Amino acid sequence: MHCPFCSATDTKVIDSRLVADGHQVRRRRECLLCHERFTTFEGAELVMPRVVKQDGSRQPFDEDKLRGGMLRAVEKRPVSMDEIEQALSKIKSTLRATGEREVTSKMIGNLMMDHLVNLDKVAYIRFASVYRAFEDVSEFGEAIASLQSDKSKAGKS
Ligand SMILES: [Zn+2]
Repeated sequence: MHCPFCSATDTKVIDSRLVADGHQVRRRRECLLCHERFTTFEGAELVMPRVVKQDGSRQPFDEDKLRGGMLRAVEKRPVSMDEIEQALSKIKSTLRATGEREVTSKMIGNLMMDHLVNLDKVAYIRFASVYRAFEDVSEFGEAIASLQSDKSKAGKS
């Protein structure tokens, strides 16, 4: 940690406390060279791995896309938003815990299925049937949407 005043590298921590519900550490530091004091905020870096699609292309991890896919799958099913958010947060922890810089979209799809099967069987079957056909995290949301609109059209005719 460089001193922002004189750029010296020797600084000492004179106070340290948890802030932001324990997600950050606020540190008071003093420069051993110029004796100026400054404050730093340190948090765990929550970097998600990039996603390797079936065709080999790479995309940034997109939580909204996953949420969209889950929400499509649980549409009109007794699954709460809390349960979805919990599942998403567990999926993200699992992905981060791999320590990999890239994960396959297939792995993400499988994780989503693991959670859906516990949340709601119908949602799981919806998701799995579309997902297995596409094997692409980015497309299943739209695919499930079209599947459902096809069904409702068929029902009306
Ligand atoms: Zn200094």
